[in-house]
Amino acid sequence: MAGVDFVDVRKSFGAFPVIKGVNIEIEDGEFVILVGPSGCGKSTLLRMLAGLENITAGEIRIGDRVVNRLPPKDRDIAMVFQNYALYPHMTVADNMAFSLMLASRPKSEIEKRVGVAAEILGLSKLLDRYPRQLSGGQRQRVAMGRAIVRDPQVFLFDEPLSNLDAKLRVAMRAEIKELHQRLKTTTVYVTHDQIEAMTMADKIVVMHDGIVEQIGAPLDLYDNPANLFVAGFIGSPAMNMIKGRLDPDNPRAFLTADGTALPVARAAASAHGRDLVYGLRPEYMSLDPNGLPAEIAVIEPTGYETQLIARLGGHDVTCVFRERVIAKPGETIHLAIDAAHVHLFDAATGRRLV
Ligand code: ATP
Repeated sequence: MAGVDFVDVRKSFGAFPVIKGVNIEIEDGEFVILVGPSGCGKSTLLRMLAGLENITAGEIRIGDRVVNRLPPKDRDIAMVFQNYALYPHMTVADNMAFSLMLASRPKSEIEKRVGVAAEILGLSKLLDRYPRQLSGGQRQRVAMGRAIVRDPQVFLFDEPLSNLDAKLRVAMRAEIKELHQRLKTTTVYVTHDQIEAMTMADKIVVMHDGIVEQIGAPLDLYDNPANLFVAGFIGSPAMNMIKGRLDPDNPRAFLTADGTALPVARAAASAHGRDLVYGLRPEYMSLDPNGLPAEIAVIEPTGYETQLIARLGGHDVTCVFRERVIAKPGETIHLAIDAAHVHLFDAATGRRLV
């Protein structure tokens, strides 16, 4: 196993820069997820690590080797793709054995490695089947088996779950995480799905427009987003963002455009006198007769919780309550805000101030 380092890595397609100086340190054995919206450059970064795309500037290291100029086969990595890339005319066993056969490994070793991987992935009974005879989840497992048999220094995953239905995705998420706990192989995983990132990663790298916005443990990013982009991207439903300013006469009050005062627990000196965004996660509001009045626009009970959208201070805010709320659109509820969890962002730079 080995760690991976990206040092000021850049990539342009022609004159068009898509990776604009990326630094990421990945520890030996860590599960790191690159996440960001479509087009942010995460797949390009992964493909550069795999050796499928050359590097315009900077350095990529696997362990203590700079791999910039190494062909993919010499990097000691194994990649699992979104479309599985299985050979349709080969059985599950042969698909899994293929890279070892290419490397001329002894037959007994190949059989042993395929057997072990099949056991880990629950594929032992399917080794004689062809890909067309498998479900989507089973195919995905074969693609992972093909990576496992090689016992690489690093696993790379490029959106491996995006072709699966929602239920299977949840199940496979747990399987991949368990697999990592078992094998402890350094893993770099790309997805646009922040839930996948939150639930699976040791460390998340949030990317946007060719740069790294923030790197951190999932809950650290959730609780302490560096800026508006990360705050809006991590968390579902998304953080409510309300424009306004601090009340010059009361540092504990944030005034929205219509003059509603929202509570603030800690006001950094730097927050005074500037345009701000009040960041409030949906779960940090509660029903309280002494709270602020808000008119319900939409109410969505999910069984174990209630999500609703209500008009508060001239804004539609999303609330999530861990209880059943019996109410109808058009009714007024009263919301108390847990000010200790409110963030303030500089509206001009997006940077978090509180
Ligand atoms: P997605 O989630 O949609 O796959 P991504 O974050 O993985 O997006 P990339 O595929 O890395 O994004 O693409 C980053 C940018 O580079 C995009 O603007 C894309 O159009 C551009 N790009 C990717 N490959 C090429 C190429 N071969 N030639 C020119 N531009 C490219």
